[in-house]
Amino acid sequence: MRRLFVLIAAGIAAHAPAALEPDWPVRLALFQGGPEIQAFERAGELLVRPDDLRVLGLSVRLDGASAEVARGEVRVRAPLHPRTGKLAIEPLAQALGLELRRPTVQAPQAALLATVSRVFADANGFGFESSHPVQIRSFRLQDPSRLVIDLKGAKLGASASLELAPGTRAAQHQPDTVRLVLETDREVRGGLPETAQGGSWMLANPDEVSSEPVPPPTATEQPPAPPLPTVGPLLATRSTPTEQTFELRLPPDWTTKCRIERAAPDRLVLRVPAAQWVPPEAPLPALRSIETESDGVSLQIALNMERPMGVRSVVERNLLRFTLVRPDVGDGKLAGKVVVVDAGHGGSDPGARSLGGKVLEKDLNLAMALEIANQLTRSGADVILTRASDVFLPLRERSEIANRSNAAFFISVHVNSNRVSNSRSGTMVFHHKTDPIGQLLADCIQREIGKTSGLPNLGTWSDGRIYASGFAVLRYAKMPAVLLELGFINHATDLRRIQTEDFRKKVASAVVKGLRVFLGDGQQEGR
Ligand SMILES: [Zn+2]
Repeated sequence: MRRLFVLIAAGIAAHAPAALEPDWPVRLALFQGGPEIQAFERAGELLVRPDDLRVLGLSVRLDGASAEVARGEVRVRAPLHPRTGKLAIEPLAQALGLELRRPTVQAPQAALLATVSRVFADANGFGFESSHPVQIRSFRLQDPSRLVIDLKGAKLGASASLELAPGTRAAQHQPDTVRLVLETDREVRGGLPETAQGGSWMLANPDEVSSEPVPPPTATEQPPAPPLPTVGPLLATRSTPTEQTFELRLPPDWTTKCRIERAAPDRLVLRVPAAQWVPPEAPLPALRSIETESDGVSLQIALNMERPMGVRSVVERNLLRFTLVRPDVGDGKLAGKVVVVDAGHGGSDPGARSLGGKVLEKDLNLAMALEIANQLTRSGADVILTRASDVFLPLRERSEIANRSNAAFFISVHVNSNRVSNSRSGTMVFHHKTDPIGQLLADCIQREIGKTSGLPNLGTWSDGRIYASGFAVLRYAKMPAVLLELGFINHATDLRRIQTEDFRKKVASAVVKGLRVFLGDGQQEGR
């Protein structure tokens, strides 16, 4: 009887997730229907075993009392529960730009949802931007005739930008679904992918029938299904002095499931679902080695490059095509290179302000820029400051100073601010759009800042995520250019830290190190 009683109690608890038992199990999925792990509920908090997060496509590194969890370029450090070694998922998800949907009686499975930051639509097309891939489902409704696009596993961000022309609308339709509706008879040109992390699509002209050609069956399709699909071989195709293109053959429809991540300036990781790796027959140009690792759920293919390189990739039907871009680094030494250091704002433009309004961003930027200039000069670089005092300078002039002096690098120094005070903390580095060299430089520098600044590492960001045309100073600069956001001026902890000499010294030396890694001068420090 005792056993029966326990079972009943368990049954009740499953539908009323109050903390009847410590560590009550809950299923947790990466979006509804996505890969799933076991989470545990305790006193209203959802906990997970850090190792399980890998199933959700997050990379995890444990060290002592904490774990470093990363998805793409965003990295977060989180403390482990001292006794159980588990992690609280909610703050972690937030930091990664994911939203936790808690289990309810109707939907007992918890889910992590991508944040949709932008939705746009007009009579000719539509698109969206999201923090992580979402599932896309589309269908038609009549009277009036309208096209419905559901983004599943998605939450419309609180500050999402909605650019919707008349006859189009977007809203959170269900707790895990953002719905976009277009009043139109037209269909999507080329069709929609099953999953995407944002994108834009045009509508077909009314007279176009279907522009999507049906792929002919190919001879490579084998009737008896192998136990695991194969990935590879990796082939080197086009080669120029500065670029090396590769093609990786994937099973059909896997291109959206394949991600390229930068694990280090000279190491890329391709992640695909569980598969059998077909190794290349001969060594490949631009690569030192390839390592693969399989955990039964996913296959990771690490490409160790000859040196830090930028990467550009496109996916086609069953092909991942990517190009490694070699930066032009001259003699590979920092000494003798012209580096333009730009202290953001100045004069009549104070930039962001602290909570009480006493501390101005322009002053923090200048103090920081002077220290960066100081350390770069000591490393032998020729430094030009766009401003060395509290004066106003137009945005375009800042980049033109770098263009006129034929600088090797342009580094703009800023301190961040956001709408809600004390809500966000950490450093990030912006690059222009999808420029592979800017991305690489941003990664080299942010990786070093993240190691020493004492503030959370918020990773590298494309300026296209903030403005469609990016930041003016990065857009006009003709050389590798980055914009540093060194903590949040409206976060008390950040502000205290930013104002210390120790912070300035550590960030400045991280910038020097990052440039050296980019140049291949002191590359061992990149990892
Ligand atoms: Zn600023």
